[in-house]
Amino acid sequence: MKTETIFSKIIRREIYSDIVYQDDLVTAFRDIKPKAPVHILIVPNILIASINHVKHEHKQILGHMITTAAKIAKHEGIANNGYRLIINCNQHAGQEIFHLHIHLVGGHNLGPILIE
Ligand code: AMP
Repeated sequence: MKTETIFSKIIRREIYSDIVYQDDLVTAFRDIKPKAPVHILIVPNILIASINHVKHEHKQILGHMITTAAKIAKHEGIANNGYRLIINCNQHAGQEIFHLHIHLVGGHNLGPILIE
């Protein structure tokens, strides 16, 4: 579970992605297959495979991922109307990329159903 994914290459800017925010702890970039008008992934710069791999020492990073998501939502102009943050974990949630990420989705009415 310590194997790097494509997200590490995006974070290091070895492959192109539409990065909307980056600092020393997190990187945020637009999802390549957006499920809503705004669909941005917020990822830790270090490799944490999934929410199952979060440890006490990651508290600062996790908090920073959430506050960054809120800042980006405001910047994207969707904070007032609302948006959804989603973290998929493992098979039943359909996690495809084993590098922890928060999906920030919004820009229209998302309805009651979770992202597919
Ligand atoms: P998950 O199912 O939660 O693991 O979500 C993985 C997400 O990563 C999906 O929404 C994909 O569309 C997205 N994704 C995969 N590869 C890339 C990429 N190179 N750039 C941006 N988003 C990607």
